Amino acid sequence: MGADGLQPKPTILVTGGAGYIGSHAVLALEKAGYQVVILDNLVYGHEDLVKQTLQAKLVVGDITDRALLDTLFATYNVAAVMHFAAYIAVGESVTDPAKYYHNNVVGALTLMEAMLAASVKRFVFSSTCAIYGPPKTVPIPEDHPQNPISPYAVSKLMVEKILADFGRAYNFQSVCFRYFNAAGADPDGRLGEDHTPETHLIPLVLFTALGRRESVSIFGTDYPTPDGTCVRDYIHVSDLATAHVLGLEYLLKGGTTEFFNLGNGNGFSVKQVIEIAQKVTGKSIVAIAQDRRPGDPPSLVGGSEKARKVLGWRPQYPNLEDIIAHAWQWHKYRHGNRV
Ligand code: UDP
Repeated sequence: MGADGLQPKPTILVTGGAGYIGSHAVLALEKAGYQVVILDNLVYGHEDLVKQTLQAKLVVGDITDRALLDTLFATYNVAAVMHFAAYIAVGESVTDPAKYYHNNVVGALTLMEAMLAASVKRFVFSSTCAIYGPPKTVPIPEDHPQNPISPYAVSKLMVEKILADFGRAYNFQSVCFRYFNAAGADPDGRLGEDHTPETHLIPLVLFTALGRRESVSIFGTDYPTPDGTCVRDYIHVSDLATAHVLGLEYLLKGGTTEFFNLGNGNGFSVKQVIEIAQKVTGKSIVAIAQDRRPGDPPSLVGGSEKARKVLGWRPQYPNLEDIIAHAWQWHKYRHGNRV
């Protein structure tokens, strides 16, 4: 029993919990009363943020290390796993696919096999809307045909397929969240995005506003979109985190394998993002048109009706201005001293 007389909530293993979306999910889990163990190899994760902001135990190690995974499951009474540890750069996945298939597919399979051996059979997976490829209908529903055009997206779809088979064969139940574009930062400024190298649009635009870069590139101005630049559906990272807690609770209550889009259903072009960032920051941001980046679909905008209906998910910060304002607050704090 907990101090309040209630049954303590179970322990959740969060891989990649020192990374951007994973750390926000850990914060949301802790707020909901769960015990958390983080497994992160710290190649891209941030130990300082875990130590400053989170209560979770941090285990430094790799998801491809089966012996470490076996020890972890033997040490902690893990009820479920949230799996965020993955490489995420679409462009790099085109030039170095082996890195992506090894970590994102072999790593996930190693983790799932260790879970099966330990009889831990609930899994929340960080997938991507990029598995759909160029959309045939907008907003994109969950049953949209799957035609991923980058090795990154293929690696995520492969894991989804493995999960569907594990569900049927082993009673291994999972929730796959297909995110649209994760953005923003903890509204209280405790956590945020800090990738090295940074490849994502909103942080690069804000780095330009901060003076850390001279300009931001616009990758492609000849797409079949209203202003010729790519359109994306930006979703607040704290709203993603909330969805993960709801997905976990769905599984803990006996829910079976499901796939959910997580987006706001509104598309913004690269040029619109830059305009809104100028408004939020009050700075003028130099943008330079470049060639298209390989692997980018022209437009990705999601329907999230299923997550709303089945999980009761309601995004709290659907406005792009709020999303960019929270990111701006974070980057000023994290990087402002380097200006
Ligand atoms: N993008 C851009 N300049 C940049 C980084 C990204 O024009 O410096 C574009 C990119 O081509 C895509 C959109 O911004 O159309 C969002 O890219 P991001 O890397 O943030 O997320 P992704 O859609 O790849 O998950």
